[in-house]
Amino acid sequence: MEVKIKAPRGTQDVLPAESYQWQEIERIVMEEASRSGFAEIRFPTFEDTALFQRSVGDTTDVVQKEMYTFEDKGNRSVTLRPEGTAGTIRAVLENGLLGSALPLRVCYLTSCFRYEKPQAGRLREFHQFGAEMLGSASPVADAEVIAMVQRILTRFGLAGAVRLEINSIGCPKCRADYHAALRSYFAQRRDELCATCQTRLDKNPMRILDCKSPVCSEIAAGAPVGLDYLCDECAAHFDQLQRHLKAFGIGYTVNPRIVRGLDYYTKTVFEFITDTIGAQGTVCGGGRYDGLVQELGGAPTPALGFAMGLERLLLVLRASGYEFQPREVCALYLASMGDQAHLAAAGLADALRRAGVRAECDVMGRSLKAQMKYADKIGARYTVVIGDSELAAGKAAVKEMCSGETADCTLSAEALAAFLNQ
Ligand SMILES: [Zn+2]
Ligand SMILES: [Zn+2]
Repeated sequence: MEVKIKAPRGTQDVLPAESYQWQEIERIVMEEASRSGFAEIRFPTFEDTALFQRSVGDTTDVVQKEMYTFEDKGNRSVTLRPEGTAGTIRAVLENGLLGSALPLRVCYLTSCFRYEKPQAGRLREFHQFGAEMLGSASPVADAEVIAMVQRILTRFGLAGAVRLEINSIGCPKCRADYHAALRSYFAQRRDELCATCQTRLDKNPMRILDCKSPVCSEIAAGAPVGLDYLCDECAAHFDQLQRHLKAFGIGYTVNPRIVRGLDYYTKTVFEFITDTIGAQGTVCGGGRYDGLVQELGGAPTPALGFAMGLERLLLVLRASGYEFQPREVCALYLASMGDQAHLAAAGLADALRRAGVRAECDVMGRSLKAQMKYADKIGARYTVVIGDSELAAGKAAVKEMCSGETADCTLSAEALAAFLNQ
């Protein structure tokens, strides 16, 4: 029977030929996070739907249009996580992590799910590296988190390919004035807005700013900007952030149009943007969310974080010619002829692996010629042919495949491992 079932639209297999690139990305981001004091947290793939309604916001595109929400067999509404911050904060609160030393720094590598139109670098199941710092209200924390992203991008050689844009969207205190300004602006063109945005006009006019409908975004382009409505505290915070970025030597531009599409952000928002993959793309976005911990039932706790889209980062790395460390290949292929030699080769391969050597032997019952062809196909660095005479002599010729040079080596795991490591 022919297999007709295909991967769901918007999902992607990562095959062995590229998984090593993912592993390198994951290793580097986690290494940088660890240097900055962030420790990994893992949380469930699905959560109570209310978690995302409360945190991401029920008037956002994410919650209104893009979530994978369903009822489980116990009639509970559950949702595949559309982002990582909500689950992180839920886990932090449920496990009492804010009771120990602050700030708390946690990070994650995880897949997220959004029902969006699939396009290059944007999938329905996508992967994010994210980090959250909880407990500090200081703009130094904002600058430190941004500096960490900058260090990660620099390690990937992307410092010149990605630019930082920052903005402040204020706090609940100054946002009332800003909302009023947005309402009166959008009210003039109410009839042109999409149906979703017409309801947003009353409930949460800021969300009209990130509506993806062309008409709404055209109208939004002329809307008042939050920077003009900041209270003294928010203005001072934004000013301090910029002074610290300058002290870190991090270049940036202020873009008053950045609002991020999630309700929980306050004050600082930022994006790292690239033009190297055709259309302009955000590689990393984040900001401060001083009200979220309390919104989810915790004590008032200032916090901030970011998420980096790994599919998009990979596209940028490939477009920029980043050289991944080569995939590890088989170090020694042990070819064999005859029953005794097969047994010896299998035993040696196992002993070599225990010694940390990537070794392979025949498991297909192939002829010697076919074994050598296979060793060539998998790119084995060295081969050795073991037959009755080699067994009798206790040594065999080890051949370096790229040069064709051979050298005799004792047929023991220790001797072979030493030979390969020299
Ligand atoms: Zn404010
Ligand atoms: Zn709209």
